Amino acid sequence: MSERPRLTVLSGPSGVGKSTVVAHMRKEHPEVWLSVSATTRKPRPGERHGVHYFFVTDEEMDKLIANGELLEWAEFAGNRYGTPRAAVLERLENGEPVLLEIDLQGARQVRESMADAQLVFLAPPSWEELVRRLTGRGTEPPEVIERRLEAARTELAAEPEFDVTLVNTSVEDVASELLALVDVV
Ligand code: ADP
Ligand code: 5GP
Repeated sequence: MSERPRLTVLSGPSGVGKSTVVAHMRKEHPEVWLSVSATTRKPRPGERHGVHYFFVTDEEMDKLIANGELLEWAEFAGNRYGTPRAAVLERLENGEPVLLEIDLQGARQVRESMADAQLVFLAPPSWEELVRRLTGRGTEPPEVIERRLEAARTELAAEPEFDVTLVNTSVEDVASELLALVDVV
């Protein structure tokens, strides 16, 4: 049997259901380790520091970047997001699977720095359904939704760059497909 990549990146447009799918998978398989990103975005209701994100100030983000503490980082729809390097490398060195849930720009950076990373694209069943989900989530004001939909057009066009595409019609189905790809033993 060939060896599987140990680092998996899950990407896809905002609102497609990345967090929902990952949360569903981890409810049944808490052993799947998901990197917690740093972000300058403000927490949504229910989001906790150190669990969903490390919520940092602009100055703190500047420092993380300057000190080389991020494996990758990007500006997305007006906020910065980045993957803390040390925790990821530690797990990979121990041979443990790592899952990143990051945007397209981040996925491209990981592809550059880690050639054997597995890039998974989560696609919506249709454009209309993506708009419905992003709007229906009710967490962003209209102008932010507009920015995110603008970014979504670019992200959808980049789908061929990914190794695997999963279409998020059923959360249960996609969560089990993703689990198989992450290859948790
Ligand atoms: P992302 O993390 O990709 O930005 P979310 O996980 O926040 O997206 O999902 C956006 C919205 O879509 C949420 O309201 C979520 O409940 C809903 N959603 C996610 N997956 C599905 C699905 N398969 N069918 C219907 N609604 C979904
Ligand atoms: P949200 O604000 O909806 O939580 O996330 C917005 C976008 O930022 C999503 O596409 C999400 O995958 C991405 N994102 C989250 N964390 C990171 C990260 O560490 N790096 C990059 N490049 N993108 C991230």
